[in-house]
Amino acid sequence: MDYELTQQAAARDFTAVPASRAPVKAVDIHTHAGTLPETALLLRAAELYGIDTLVVIVHDYLAPASVSNGWAGSVVIAPQLRYDHLDDEERFLKENLERIEQAGRAGVRLVKFWFTPRFYATTRLRLDDPRLAPLLARIDALGMGLLVHVSDPDIWFERVYTDRQLYGTKAEQYPQLEAVLDRHPRMPVVAAHMGGDPEHLDHLQELLDRHPNLFLDTSATKWMIRELGRQREAARAFFIRNRHRIVFGTDQVVTRGSDLVRYTSRYWTHRLFWETSVECPSPVEDPDCDGMPVIRGLDLPGEVLADIYRHNAERILGTPPPAR
Ligand SMILES: [Zn+2]
Repeated sequence: MDYELTQQAAARDFTAVPASRAPVKAVDIHTHAGTLPETALLLRAAELYGIDTLVVIVHDYLAPASVSNGWAGSVVIAPQLRYDHLDDEERFLKENLERIEQAGRAGVRLVKFWFTPRFYATTRLRLDDPRLAPLLARIDALGMGLLVHVSDPDIWFERVYTDRQLYGTKAEQYPQLEAVLDRHPRMPVVAAHMGGDPEHLDHLQELLDRHPNLFLDTSATKWMIRELGRQREAARAFFIRNRHRIVFGTDQVVTRGSDLVRYTSRYWTHRLFWETSVECPSPVEDPDCDGMPVIRGLDLPGEVLADIYRHNAERILGTPPPAR
């Protein structure tokens, strides 16, 4: 265990960036930001780590330039729909169709759907609900895709989602995803957080094999290093085998009052996890980890990293122009 590596990096606020073996700049396909001043710190951290494009998830559509605010890289906005008028079906449909048209005109490529067990518990809405069908059809027709979060760590189903009536089991989160993948076979669907099931790579392999339009993103730093690092050899083989189906993302969240270290420490953790074979303490605290969280690097080859960092994201997003 290389304790010193983490200590030394922390002493420099994770701004001394370990060299990348990837021959390309990266796209971070999963971040949450807005117009807070701290967004500039996320963009600075991204730039330090060779990331030139960020997909930024927002509630209401924002012009990319209002988020990037002079940053030299590209910001790609991924808006969400609104669910506050779900009880008034006509209004729900009309308002969200307007949002989708607006997104299409603005060049949006991905619409975010946060369909977690908690969302289901409060709305009873699944992604394959008939009320959403016309909206998904329009997203598909406009050539956009989905970024979907459908499930959560196994450990949350053991410790948090114990009310099965309210949340459903983990397996019950997946039929909604597969139904939409089947109904829209040409629409790209990025399932966040390794499809919500990094614990079960065999399940993810089945999903990828059944649905050629499915991609997985690597976001959620603590969860990914915990569950993929636990089965390092299998995870490495899975990434190499599915190198055209996995896209790099972090789920960095811009929060008020954060400092640069919040963002650099996460990018540092990703850099070491994907690109090296180190074993060192993770600087990102993990309440779901029994004991100290550890980075056990997957040591992916450079050409696999190039696909995951950039080429696959470009297939999904096209190549966006730099937003100034
Ligand atoms: Zn997220």
